[in-house]
Amino acid sequence: MRRIPFKETSFILEMLSEDFGKISVIAKGIRKEKNANYGIIDILNELEVVLYKNPSSEWYIFKSGTLVKAYLYETEFTKSLYMQAAAEFLLQIIIPEEDAHKLFRLIKDYFDFLGKVIGNEAIVFWRFLLRALVILGIEINMRNCVICEKRENFPVAYFPQKSGFICENCFRPHLKEEVIELDKKVSKIIRNIYNSNKLLNDLLLSAETVSQINSIFLIHLSEHFHKKFHFKTLALIK
Ligand SMILES: [Zn+2]
Repeated sequence: MRRIPFKETSFILEMLSEDFGKISVIAKGIRKEKNANYGIIDILNELEVVLYKNPSSEWYIFKSGTLVKAYLYETEFTKSLYMQAAAEFLLQIIIPEEDAHKLFRLIKDYFDFLGKVIGNEAIVFWRFLLRALVILGIEINMRNCVICEKRENFPVAYFPQKSGFICENCFRPHLKEEVIELDKKVSKIIRNIYNSNKLLNDLLLSAETVSQINSIFLIHLSEHFHKKFHFKTLALIK
């Protein structure tokens, strides 16, 4: 997910592993030109690796690896940013070991699916986030109003404290301080986010719409992890 230069010739690799979740790996001497492993440790490469770890240390030592798939290879710019945004998300959260396997599978499916869609990558990204939030047990309710549980005239506003949205009937002026009112287009996407791929094909997303939905996810994440979240990569999308 990330590699940080360490000393003259080494890297610290932050990796997502299927069995242990996020791990920090020291790849000693890997930046030497002759090192056979240098080419395989690019960002978002899927690897099979042999690691060593002293039981008393939190660090793993990189021994050898084989490339399974290079997700960013020949991937168009926008898609590559949405892939990196998912990695950015994983880097910012705490991954309990028991969720590692599901998140690992999810991100692979996400990368594969993203590779196939034409346009509206943001929707694929939001669905990825929603699934990840379910795995982590901090779901956002996109299905019905968090006050009356109905789906008529839903949703008109996002209600951070209740991890969901409210309908037109439940919206009251005194809630204005606590909720974020939604643009009509945003409302339509939220309502249909799980509806097949019709949404993917029919919709033309504006920058404002994408930005409002991204900010809802960021607020939700900040509420649950009690720190500020960001998707720096998404700021690069034109
Ligand atoms: Zn309601």
